[in-house]
Amino acid sequence: MITKKKDIRSLTKEQLRDFFVAQDDKAFRGNQVYEWLWQKSAHSFNEMTNISLETRQLLEANFVINHIEVDTIQRSNDGTIKNAVRLHDGLVVESVLIPTKTRTTACVSSQVGCSLDCLFCATARLKRMRNLNPDEIYDQVVAIDKESRLYHNRPLSNIVFMGMGEPLMNYNNVLKAIEKITSPEGLGMSSKRITVSTSGVPKMIKKMADDDVKFNLAVSLHSAIEEVRTSIMPFNETFPLSDLKESLEYWYAKTKRMISYEYVVWKGINDSQKDIDALVKFCKYVPCKVNIIEYNPIDDGDFEQASHKALDNYLKTLEKNRIVVNVRRSRGKDIDAACGQLANKK
Ligand code: SF4
Repeated sequence: MITKKKDIRSLTKEQLRDFFVAQDDKAFRGNQVYEWLWQKSAHSFNEMTNISLETRQLLEANFVINHIEVDTIQRSNDGTIKNAVRLHDGLVVESVLIPTKTRTTACVSSQVGCSLDCLFCATARLKRMRNLNPDEIYDQVVAIDKESRLYHNRPLSNIVFMGMGEPLMNYNNVLKAIEKITSPEGLGMSSKRITVSTSGVPKMIKKMADDDVKFNLAVSLHSAIEEVRTSIMPFNETFPLSDLKESLEYWYAKTKRMISYEYVVWKGINDSQKDIDALVKFCKYVPCKVNIIEYNPIDDGDFEQASHKALDNYLKTLEKNRIVVNVRRSRGKDIDAACGQLANKK
């Protein structure tokens, strides 16, 4: 009978310590191996040079280290880098490095494909194949940090969960990955520099508030009118804006942290004064800022970027109502690395 070896990174530090104690070794050995696995991102037991050969063989006989491989790297002429990341079972996800003058941001995936069905998004067409494990999320960050140091001479400064997948549909694994990313035993990054972006799953937003998470929350809003949002994000029928509003009020009451709304303006869909007024009203519920994001057409998509005049109307009206608004130019368009374009195309 073939016994499948366990992925060693699914073990907690305590469990690793217990493993060594059960082998009549010192619990401390567990700490050493844990450090190799997370802080030093070892891909094989042979790299663990302060561990005896005998112990490495014992580990080899009992465990595997499932790690990602960066299959292809595409570099945009604006400095953006897109990684196609092969997982241990052969599936592929994408992650993106976005450099600006002041920061380098990793945009990471949380699922292979996506559980949701936003009509403007290339990932939605892949459907959800599976959730990523915490180590697969963590490894994407490590890979991008290395590229940031190599190509931009500085470490990664920020992380956004805006790649493939709905992070709140893989909540436990996303949380575990963030714990490792922020832990001094992992990458030691500040949780203030991490943003989880959701399309709006009210029950999970409340759960995050109850769990007292320290990272930032962004919501892909795109419309504050119930019927319009449902027409472009069909799951809005299950998670309507009225429930989303209530969950965001709950989040703010508990965390006192402002929310970012991600918002794309499309021609003929959400570019009228009625759409703008609805957004202004929605923005009054909890302290927030709005990021107006440039749209990146996907092949055979029915969506078109709205006119400059419509965008201008949004900006002027939001500013007049004292709502903080930024316009985000998309990056990496020439390599299909921009928001909503991640679909494992090469
Ligand atoms: S926009 Fe986000 S939530 Fe919607 S289908 Fe795409 S990846 Fe999923």
